[in-house]
Amino acid sequence: ALHPVRRALISVSDKTGLVDLARALAERGVELLSTGGSAGMLREAGLEVRDVADVTGFPEMMDGRVKTLHPKVHGGLLALRDDEGHVAAMNEHGIGPIDLLIVNLYPFEETVAKGADYDTCIENIDIGGPAMIRAAAKNHKFVNVVVDVDDYQPLLEELTANDGSTSYAFRQKLALTAYARTGAYDAAVSAWMTGALEEAAPRRRAFAGTLAQTLRYGENPHQSAAFYTDGSDRPGVANAVQLQGKELSYNNINDTDAAFELVSEFLPQNGPACAIIKHANPCGVARGQTLREAYMSAFDCDRTSAFGGIIALNQKLDAETATEISQIFTEVIIAPGADDAAKEILAKKKNLRLLLTNGLANPVAAGLAVKQVSGGYLVQDKDNGHIDLDDLKVVTKRQPSEKEMADMLFAWKVAKHVKSNAIVYVKDGATVGVGAGQMSRVDSCRIAARKSVDMAEAMGLSEPLTKGSVVASDAFFPFADGLLTAAEAGATAVIQPGGSMRDDEVIAAADEAGLAMVMTGMRHFRH
Ligand code: 5GP
Repeated sequence: ALHPVRRALISVSDKTGLVDLARALAERGVELLSTGGSAGMLREAGLEVRDVADVTGFPEMMDGRVKTLHPKVHGGLLALRDDEGHVAAMNEHGIGPIDLLIVNLYPFEETVAKGADYDTCIENIDIGGPAMIRAAAKNHKFVNVVVDVDDYQPLLEELTANDGSTSYAFRQKLALTAYARTGAYDAAVSAWMTGALEEAAPRRRAFAGTLAQTLRYGENPHQSAAFYTDGSDRPGVANAVQLQGKELSYNNINDTDAAFELVSEFLPQNGPACAIIKHANPCGVARGQTLREAYMSAFDCDRTSAFGGIIALNQKLDAETATEISQIFTEVIIAPGADDAAKEILAKKKNLRLLLTNGLANPVAAGLAVKQVSGGYLVQDKDNGHIDLDDLKVVTKRQPSEKEMADMLFAWKVAKHVKSNAIVYVKDGATVGVGAGQMSRVDSCRIAARKSVDMAEAMGLSEPLTKGSVVASDAFFPFADGLLTAAEAGATAVIQPGGSMRDDEVIAAADEAGLAMVMTGMRHFRH
């Protein structure tokens, strides 16, 4: 039903557009109540305002911790106008109805982002604001609640269209936005506090996001979609600057994230690295003497799949690499930076998106991974596990060579970012076969090896690229069959977690085939 707006309470930290809105409301005959700073600004603009302190009979106190927390305010927001008992209570206690609440909260997220100290962050947790927002949103049958500057104009349009009233449907929408805001606000406090206390236990943390972008569609065109950010300043797709190309799609964001998280495993000081991603799995990852060489080696792993891929680099993009990448169609490039010559070259590729992150993600940083299932969310620590040389146990008669060892560590890092069952063949610091997402491990071994045969044929080579490679498996080999497939494909060394009932059988098969094998003691399932 339409309900007229006669009194508004205004209490905002972000004062953008405040005076214009208040003036438009006053012109429509709306009485204005307001808190300290907001009231001061409105008065200065020549508007008539009543202080909330005057309504409550209490001054603002305790550094603003208590301003609006009073029955005269909350009664006015919560009273049901069509309930006799509520109306009687309003009359008895001299409570005036508040029909419109305009609040935006203390800038808690911005305060955290600025790196403020603990006490400053605590002081920037708004108490009265969320209390009023939740009260007004609960009573949206009668009350309008505006928490977003972008809703000022639609509010005025609604009032104009309905002769000073708003519709129920309009108030419902405002309430929806309001609860999203208070939910995200408390989740930001929770996220900050778990970080500040270095206690990242999933069971003590709330999570929610802030709407960053409405997407054209989801995984498929018939699905609507949006992107929410969690307020962290971690370098990555959420915080990157996009220099060119059309808006990122849902799948682009997902794949770009996978690409950047993977390439971030390779520290720039250890040399250039490149990852090419399709459908969230790498179709090529490589190191190189130069960035261009890293890209070309990654490309050579699976040239067919690389078409229309997402490329992540661990170093500033240079002109020669940009030229090389321009040879085929690529959806997105994400890199810590790009020099001017590279930008100029890519500017000619209108559809290519170039994202700059100004840094790499920290692959061992703590964080949360959230996945939705029907009826709930699964929450776990991010897989930030990593291994060093010292963690590896050689289990075969043959010791791996230094070169095999280096390739195995490389393959292991890549395998962590491949959907299980993951099998990754690597030679000379480049993947030469990736088997992803199969329901049996032996199939992942076979598929990766077969693709490598195809690639060799396409490149006019007589031997498959897997000849003389090493192989990583994200989880143990349950049987010897997968390992034997890898040996047939030409792998000479194996890295895997170990821990199978049949480890002895698998080790014996490795010895018989003359392979070297190391066990990590750590698994990297990824689903
Ligand atoms: P102003 O600049 O008008 O003095 O203050 C506006 C801010 O105060 C808004 O962000 C609003 O959410 C917040 N606020 C309003 N009432 C209370 C209260 O009772 N306690 C606290 N901590 N903040 C309040």
